Amino acid sequence: MILLGLLFIKFVFSYEIDVNTFSNYLDVQNRHVHFEWLINMEKKLINATANYQFHVVGSSIYKISLDIKDLTIYTIYMDNGVVLRYSVDYPYADSDQGQRLNIMLNREYKRDEFVILTIKYSIDARSESISFMDISQTQTKSMPYLFTQCEDAYCRSLAPLQDTPAIKQTYSATIIYKDIEASDVFMSADETQEQFTILNHPSINPNFTWKYKYFVQKTPIPSYLFAIVAGNLLKVPTSNGGRTFLISEPDKINEYKEELKDMEQFLQAIEQYIGPYTWGTYTIVILPPSFPYGGMENPLLTFASPTIMTKTGSGLYVAIHEMAHSWFGNTITCINWANMWINEGFTVFLERKASLFYYKVLDDIKLNAIIGNATMYQDILDLGPDNNFTSLHPDTTGINPQLSISEIPYEKGFQFLTFLEGIVGAEDFKYMLRSYLNKYKYKSIDQQEFQHFILRYLYEQHVDDYSTKRYRILEYWDTWIYQPGLPPIILDFSTNKLIETQQYTTSYIIADGRQPDNYAQYFNFYPSQKKVFLEELFKKAQNNQLKLNIIEQIDKDLQLTNDNDYELKFRWFKAILTAGDRTRFNLIANFLGEVGTCEISCPVYKALNELDHDFAVQTFQTHQEFYHQIIRNSIQSILEKNIQLIK
Ligand SMILES: [Zn+2]
Repeated sequence: MILLGLLFIKFVFSYEIDVNTFSNYLDVQNRHVHFEWLINMEKKLINATANYQFHVVGSSIYKISLDIKDLTIYTIYMDNGVVLRYSVDYPYADSDQGQRLNIMLNREYKRDEFVILTIKYSIDARSESISFMDISQTQTKSMPYLFTQCEDAYCRSLAPLQDTPAIKQTYSATIIYKDIEASDVFMSADETQEQFTILNHPSINPNFTWKYKYFVQKTPIPSYLFAIVAGNLLKVPTSNGGRTFLISEPDKINEYKEELKDMEQFLQAIEQYIGPYTWGTYTIVILPPSFPYGGMENPLLTFASPTIMTKTGSGLYVAIHEMAHSWFGNTITCINWANMWINEGFTVFLERKASLFYYKVLDDIKLNAIIGNATMYQDILDLGPDNNFTSLHPDTTGINPQLSISEIPYEKGFQFLTFLEGIVGAEDFKYMLRSYLNKYKYKSIDQQEFQHFILRYLYEQHVDDYSTKRYRILEYWDTWIYQPGLPPIILDFSTNKLIETQQYTTSYIIADGRQPDNYAQYFNFYPSQKKVFLEELFKKAQNNQLKLNIIEQIDKDLQLTNDNDYELKFRWFKAILTAGDRTRFNLIANFLGEVGTCEISCPVYKALNELDHDFAVQTFQTHQEFYHQIIRNSIQSILEKNIQLIK
């Protein structure tokens, strides 16, 4: 009994805490929130109410603390109408993480009681989670546009929340908007015919009609997965399967639909490895080009950058990645941002397994792992190999967790899981992952819990050589997680295609400005192989081997400056800028004004800044209104050598 009791205590209290929330979420936890948002796109204003169902899980509480940032709070009241006092403080005044809203309750609440309260507040253009776009910033130039981006800790500027991945809640919403400002609105939730009671009816205006839409998300999700998009939007099925849908502005929807016609097959490829998709339908929104990421896995409403629409299919791995998050990230979630690899490493692992089922080309998967490794290696060099952010457990105390994000949780996380798969065996590992999903679905966990699970699973399954496997799993576990820099074990992703691509790159260097005999080989490369070629060129540029006459010949042969594939184009620009090429500055500046995705624009800014800081700053100043706030911050930190120039 004593032993059991001790084990229980260890199990309950061993979870890591989240240092990036100011809420008292260990004592009280939100179970459901209902939003009512009245959107005024013209004024860039949302009049909002949020009604919460808080569950007391500590022994007792007198107050509820929530995260907020740049919100205006009007009043807070209980369901019986009692108005509550509140205060706002700044736990880390300089850390860019917002404020703490302290709500004084009308009495002491004991464990297992519920506190139902409502906050009236407003959201305006200061909100970092919302982009209000003018008509001129959209593709069809017919209506304004609005979208949110809450990951990591930006949802606190959308609503007062326990803004931590540790807390999962269901949500519902009433969205009220003008017919002249949006043809439709969607959320990371199901639309419902149920009409919720309206707290604040808008006044009637003869110039437009107010429209109402109702949403319900029945699966508990963390706040970073709350999402809304509004504008001139169409929703169409991508295939006859009935599960997958596409949303975009109307002008390019047929083009996007053609490119995404295999979404149902992607979903089936993922299911083949990991088991059934449990969220019902799957919808991807292709956003305007200022969307700051390649993709964002909002449940039932993946957001994606138009840069993934390459016409060659090379950007579709982003769609597969976001789909894979439906299992890892959205069903099982990291408990804090230090454990982000619990979301991203697992998702990259599943993305590559599914890509193999779908494309059936092992070399392509290996080349993708090589490209991922190269990006991670560059991030380690940029951050410094001793930097804690290059570990799988970055310390985000006192800082905006966004600052710790890099390729490391994705690729080192993927490599760690590949290493573990090598010990466990591919089939056993697959069934272990399915069992892991079943056990922890709708929960948030840390890496220690995953370690407990994998060892317990192997023990209970009576796998061969259990003790040897256990030893090998534990031998490097903490080094993988906590040690900064390169992974402790170098994995072998080598393939003949890599050697072939390296030889092809060298043939251009040797030809020294002439056309090599094998130049046309490029046109038969896989998309991943083309990226590897451009990364190889970048390495040659770093070693001063990529001379300007070679650049001209490559561009003449392969037309890279004119390529429509953003993934290829940014690598080309990165390589030639590193080689010192100044002849395409204007084209590069225009390119940077078209792409708001940091994965694409940031490496180009970095190379441009190193070659010509003043021109990089000038380019940024020209385009800064176009960029999302998150990316503006990232680019500014790249250019920070001369930050006073930027206002
Ligand atoms: Zn991801």
